[in-house]
Amino acid sequence: MTLKQKLDTKQRLTLEDGIALYDMDLLELGKYANIIREEKFGKKTYYNVNRHINPTNICKDVCQFCAYSSSRKNPNPYAMSHDEILDTIENSVKNGIKEVHIVSAHNPDTGLDWYLEVFKKIKDKYPNLHVKALTGAEIHFLSQEYNLTHEDIINKMIEYGVDSMPGGGAEIFDEDVRKKICGGKVTSDQWLDIHRIWHKKDKMSNATMLFGHIESRENRIDHMIRLRDLQDETKGFNSFIPLVYQRENNYLKVEKDLTAQEILKTFAISRLILDNFPSIKAYWVTSTVKLALVAQEFGANDLDGTIEKELINSAAGAASANGIAENEFIGLIKNSGFIPVERDSLYNEI
Ligand code: SF4
Repeated sequence: MTLKQKLDTKQRLTLEDGIALYDMDLLELGKYANIIREEKFGKKTYYNVNRHINPTNICKDVCQFCAYSSSRKNPNPYAMSHDEILDTIENSVKNGIKEVHIVSAHNPDTGLDWYLEVFKKIKDKYPNLHVKALTGAEIHFLSQEYNLTHEDIINKMIEYGVDSMPGGGAEIFDEDVRKKICGGKVTSDQWLDIHRIWHKKDKMSNATMLFGHIESRENRIDHMIRLRDLQDETKGFNSFIPLVYQRENNYLKVEKDLTAQEILKTFAISRLILDNFPSIKAYWVTSTVKLALVAQEFGANDLDGTIEKELINSAAGAASANGIAENEFIGLIKNSGFIPVERDSLYNEI
């Protein structure tokens, strides 16, 4: 069966198929991805009203691609207090946020109790606010610091009010590339196993992929297929989020940005390979708002949220420091021919 026959009859695609899709004409590839997108969501594009909080940039790890950690090229170490976090949330709740998204560096001083206490304080004050917190990488870091298992940390997260897990820390699963860009942090198998444990607690999470650095196209498809295998097993992922690598202020010497065509093809291919993932998210922070809007035609059905403030990718050159207003977000989606639908963190329509 040819690749086009497989696409026409919606067969599951292999690693080789995924690599070959990059050679397909962009618009033809987009057409196939858009067929699946429209079958699942029609013209709806999801967004949520959320606030990102990055409590500290002091980090024990030394990822080559990182521009955020103060132990890399960022000269401004900081750690927020619980009161600062709660004040931030109070302001954002007034703006109507439904979710707080808390991810951070691996700071030994903001340890497990520090996190658990702030989760409890947030939940006590705002019981209806969805707390999405701690990536697989952070969970692994805490488990090592406290000599606990991943499941021990996960049980505590649930006990103290974490509702879902973000998808960060996945980077690229290929072990050789991973060693070069973030050796020493959570391994691919550990990352996948942490999400497996989380899903088996009847909890949902997201999955990311950092691309556009030193990885190959094959590495990207391999990454997607490892996620697809886990999703077959647990059905616990809400969305896949391809994150475009930002080149500024870090130690990975990548000469060129990815072309818009390569980025759009990667969105479209992820929609086709990840046949068991409900949502493909064009995270405007790393792809730019304009390309995220175009990605709606290439399989993406979710543009993430208003964010309000974001420090991790903006440190590496992304134009995301100050978020985007909700009415502007709605206008942009409408003007691009799609129907904006606010969702909650578990993809229920609001
Ligand atoms: S990517 Fe995360 S874990 Fe790696 S150095 Fe940066 S803050 Fe630390």
